[in-house]
Amino acid sequence: MSLHFSVTTRFAPTPSGELHLGHVLAAWEARRLADVHGGRCLLRIEDLDTGRTRDPLVVQQMLDDLAWVGLQFDGEIVRQSERTAAYVVALDRLRAMGLLYPCFCSRAEIRAEWEEMYRAPHDSPRFRYSGRCRDLPEDIVEEKLVCGVPHAWRINMRRVQDLIGCPLWEDIGRSGVQRCVPSICDDVILARKDAPASYHLAVVVDDAWQGVSLVSRGEDLLESTPVHRALQGVLALPVPLYAHHTLLRNSAGFRLAKRDQSCSIRFLRERGVSPRQILEAVHSAVENGGKCTLF
Ligand code: GLU
Repeated sequence: MSLHFSVTTRFAPTPSGELHLGHVLAAWEARRLADVHGGRCLLRIEDLDTGRTRDPLVVQQMLDDLAWVGLQFDGEIVRQSERTAAYVVALDRLRAMGLLYPCFCSRAEIRAEWEEMYRAPHDSPRFRYSGRCRDLPEDIVEEKLVCGVPHAWRINMRRVQDLIGCPLWEDIGRSGVQRCVPSICDDVILARKDAPASYHLAVVVDDAWQGVSLVSRGEDLLESTPVHRALQGVLALPVPLYAHHTLLRNSAGFRLAKRDQSCSIRFLRERGVSPRQILEAVHSAVENGGKCTLF
């Protein structure tokens, strides 16, 4: 497929641990798509979470491992921890549009409510927020805010739909043109007191700011794409194309677990596996539904 615009892809790891084979596949695929279309592939470190992702040693180790494997990127490395001002601007804009509401539920409350709703043991639907704080009376909201009750900011997806309807997005890899129906998306959290922006907000703001025109990422993020499309709609941001790639599986067909040390690049390197073997294994995994012979 030839694309009639300049292609910019990105590899956007969250540095929560060592670089592993799944990361290499994501980076390799983003690089490959950029190269096929004569474009650029950027590197963005998604280190918004305080704690481990901010550890400079973890980030440096990831960068060293990427370089050792031989994966190269274009332009400056962007770190989300340095981009919080841009997320605050986007949040203020959404708040001014009346699209955000504070959610005072604790995680335990949300989980208990969820478990109550889906008590049947065979039911294990994806975790979703019920919308409990969406329609709280204004005076109660005011009072809680004035008293400093801890809260997160959620986006009201019903209002989003009233505003932008059901826009389209396109996956060039597998599923083609899709319709985003905001009202069936979760009212995801966009910010918390201790976190200036959630993954969803930051990724959308940064993809637009960096001029990413083709978002290549794992199919585990497929469910997030309608949320991102909705945010692009309300923030009037350009809409990239998407390409969701397969995830790695071992020869028994099980998905790679990030905590599994045997697929960390450092582990493989220490056991004498070469960069070439790693890249070949990743390449052949992509062609074989994700099956990888290296772990
Ligand atoms: N930072 C995310 C991760 O490491 C990927 C985000 C994205 O590609 O949209 O899983």
